Amino acid sequence: MCTAHIMNSVKNRMLSRRDLFRGSAAAAAATAAGGLIAPSAALAQGHERVEDLTHLLHEGFPTFSGEQEFFMDEVRSFAEHGYHSFDLRMHEHMGTHMDAPLHFAEDTNSVAEIPVPDLVVPLAVIDIRAKADEDPDAQVTPDDIRAWTAVHGPIPPRACVAMLSGWGAHATSERFRNADDSGVMHFPGFHIEAAELLLEESDAVGIAVDTLSIDHGPSEDFAVHFAWLGANRYGIECVANLDRLPPAGATLIVGAPRFARATGGQARILALV
Ligand SMILES: [Zn+2]
Repeated sequence: MCTAHIMNSVKNRMLSRRDLFRGSAAAAAATAAGGLIAPSAALAQGHERVEDLTHLLHEGFPTFSGEQEFFMDEVRSFAEHGYHSFDLRMHEHMGTHMDAPLHFAEDTNSVAEIPVPDLVVPLAVIDIRAKADEDPDAQVTPDDIRAWTAVHGPIPPRACVAMLSGWGAHATSERFRNADDSGVMHFPGFHIEAAELLLEESDAVGIAVDTLSIDHGPSEDFAVHFAWLGANRYGIECVANLDRLPPAGATLIVGAPRFARATGGQARILALV
C-alpha cells in the first residue's frame, strides 16, 4: 500500500469522524434542551459526581528519585504522516501510580494480578492536614485512624484508606519532594503502626497517599512498603484532589494498568461521590 493511499484513507476517516462528532454534538444539544441527559450507570445508582484523583502527568512531574522518569517521543506527526502519535517511556513508579505488592515482596500479586473487585472499593479519607502544615514529616498514626472510626464507624470492607495531607497542592513545585541540603526528603506518609493496625483490624485492600511515598519522606527502612505490600495489599501514590472528597462514602476506581509482571504503573484514579 502506497503512502498516498494511506494519507487518503486517513483523511477520509477523519472527515467521517468529524461528521460523527457533529452528529453526536447535535444529539447532545437536543437532549440537553429537553433536560434528558442520562446519567452513567454508576451515577444513576446514587452518586452525584465523579472526581479525578489523577495528577496531570508531564515530563517535569516531580519524582521520588529526582530524575526525569517520563519521556514522550513523537514518532508520527500530522504534517509528515497524516496522523499523530508518541512513543512513551516511563518508570513504573511515577506520577499518580499504583504500587503492586510485587514491588516489595516476592510471590505476591503483580499489578496485572490484583483482583478486579479490589480496584473498585469504598474510600476512607484520613485528614492530617493540620499536623502536616506544622510538620512536613507528619505521619498517619493509629490515633488518626481511631479518630476516623470513632466518627464514621469501622473501616468499610475491602476499603482503600487514603491520607489527605494537603501535599497534592505542591505537585507543581519543589515543595512536593521537599528535599533538604543533604537530599533527604520531607513529606507526610503512613506510620508503620497505622499500617499494622489496618492489617490487624481491617481487611483494607489498599492505602493511598497524596505524597510521593506511602512511607514518609525521611524513611530509610521503607517499613510501610515492606509490611503493607508484603501482606499482598496495594498502595497508590501521588493521589490528587482528595480534599474534594468526603471523609467517608466515596467509591474509588483504580484504573491500574494490566501489564504482565509489572510492579505497578501509572494509573487513572477516579472517585464516585
Ligand atoms: Zn511506593
